[in-house]
Amino acid sequence: MRPLALFSTDLDVMAVTASVPNRPVVRVPVVEFGAPDASAPMRLSVLGATGSIGKSTLDLVGRAPDRFEIVALTAQSNARELAVLARRHRARLAVIGDDAQLAELRDGLAGTGIRAAAGLEALIEAALMPADCVMAAIVGAAGLRPTFAAASCGARIALANKECLVSAGHVFTAEIARSGAELLPVDSEHSAAFQALSGADPKAIEKIVLTASGGPFRTWAREALEAATPEQALKHPNWSMGAKVTIDSATLMNKGLELIEAFHLFPVPAEALDCVIHPQSIVHCLVSYVDGSVLAQMASPDMRTPIAVALAWPKRMAAPTEKLDLARLGSLTFEAPDEVRFPALGVARAALRRGDTAPAVLNAANEVAVKAFLDRRLKFLDIAALVEATIEEAERQGAICQAHGLDDILHIDGLARRLAVEKLNGY
Ligand code: NAD
Ligand code: MG
Repeated sequence: MRPLALFSTDLDVMAVTASVPNRPVVRVPVVEFGAPDASAPMRLSVLGATGSIGKSTLDLVGRAPDRFEIVALTAQSNARELAVLARRHRARLAVIGDDAQLAELRDGLAGTGIRAAAGLEALIEAALMPADCVMAAIVGAAGLRPTFAAASCGARIALANKECLVSAGHVFTAEIARSGAELLPVDSEHSAAFQALSGADPKAIEKIVLTASGGPFRTWAREALEAATPEQALKHPNWSMGAKVTIDSATLMNKGLELIEAFHLFPVPAEALDCVIHPQSIVHCLVSYVDGSVLAQMASPDMRTPIAVALAWPKRMAAPTEKLDLARLGSLTFEAPDEVRFPALGVARAALRRGDTAPAVLNAANEVAVKAFLDRRLKFLDIAALVEATIEEAERQGAICQAHGLDDILHIDGLARRLAVEKLNGY
């Protein structure tokens, strides 16, 4: 059985009708509204602090500053913004990935006493600093080493960096189990599943269905997709996110990555995972049980809700998101995904079925393909084609194999990137 990292945190429960004779005991979660435990501030580090998830996290922190103590903040290349965030939240350490920007970071932090550092080793040091929770919000496989470092300490990992579970699912969940860390998903669909699954007996779960907005091209004909531009693909109808995940949403690769992510998070086989298009992005996941019940989680499409869930669980904290008004929304609609117009979903499903390092190759090739599309070197529909061709080539070369640790994954990731770049020259 895969490690059930998510099920390590049992909900506190109380019997609300125990005092009424001859009635079954209804057990409900004890849910506290407001900020997390007031007794001590939560020591929090944010990896990827200048990104969309990082800034949403710090927005919540800024609204309840006495509930959090910021330990470390990191970013790759925006030293100025990182310095502003580190000052505002009184971080102890600020790390910039790009060494060339260390001088600018030091300037920005002059006179504050906040330590500045740069480079991969410093990113790992930030992840290793004692903290109660680490928000893992670096984009792409670049997040693997720092997120693994955080996981090795046994702290709570609020995981936004889905690529970590996609590329290294088995070894990452094994590390979580070894260290006793707590893994809480930040991806909205997985946060929704986590909430709808709380306390569930794995044997009673029939299906977990992730919703997808369908992205900006949901209604486009295949011929129109041939000519889709980065500007058009970056205009997501519902969510405001970083460029990489926005392009993944337009191709539906995001949903494919999320199926793989869900496979590692939840105790169900791959066949029990599915997705449905839901253009309003209000329902985030539906969990079906053997008795016919379907539990869904709903919220406005604002990442501050799943971030708040991960930070405060098993309690609840306030998030300043738009409250749902279903009467005003009027209708919620659902449709099946079209894998002909959006082939990336099928490519990702095949990688999940193939297993071993196929998802790592999928992820690496997709990162190369998305960058090439943004650089106008690859057409929109060729993103999935390039990824599929890279996986086939990796299989021919014997690179789809079992991984025994993070180094194996990083080796395969590098190889897949080289194969994808070679293939790219053929487009
Ligand atoms: P983003 O591009 O807005 O931000 C990425 C952050 O990572 C930035 O702080 C950047 O400086 C840092 N970073 C980039 N490359 C790095 C490198 N090589 N080394 C170290 N740091 C690096 O991305 P985002 O949209 O915030 O997404 C972050 C993660 O969360 C992704 O894995 C994404 O799939 C996931 N996610 C995002 C959303 C969303 O709404 N934005 C929703 C669900 C999941
Ligand atoms: Mg998502």
